[in-house]
Amino acid sequence: MSNACPCRFGEPFDQCCGPLIAREKTAPTAVQLMRSRYTAFAVGDVDYLLYSWDPSTRPSDLELDPDQRWLFLEVLRTSAGGLLDSEGVVEFRAHYKTAGQRDSLHEVSKFVRHDGRWVYLGSI
Ligand SMILES: [Zn+2]
Repeated sequence: MSNACPCRFGEPFDQCCGPLIAREKTAPTAVQLMRSRYTAFAVGDVDYLLYSWDPSTRPSDLELDPDQRWLFLEVLRTSAGGLLDSEGVVEFRAHYKTAGQRDSLHEVSKFVRHDGRWVYLGSI
């Protein structure tokens, strides 16, 4: 399906990460914010990546590698990050291809709430 969301949660883009990236709604959980950030990497949306980054750790700018093609996301573990939590942890592996080679990025990310919405704090 061509409109499948790049995060491969199984929903179409416009019912999955699309509305989050368009800022029509906020992610209810840390893992959903994590998925939307992966999708933003996949579609090259730097503005959303910065918007979903905690101001205390956010870089002033972000340059994406145009040769890096994101393949899929594996969420390995989540801790807290729910509707009533103020922080959460997501461990994931993001698979990508660059210069014809497949590789992956493994990270344990911490998420916190900023102005009530989930944001990415950094890796732990
Ligand atoms: Zn998605």
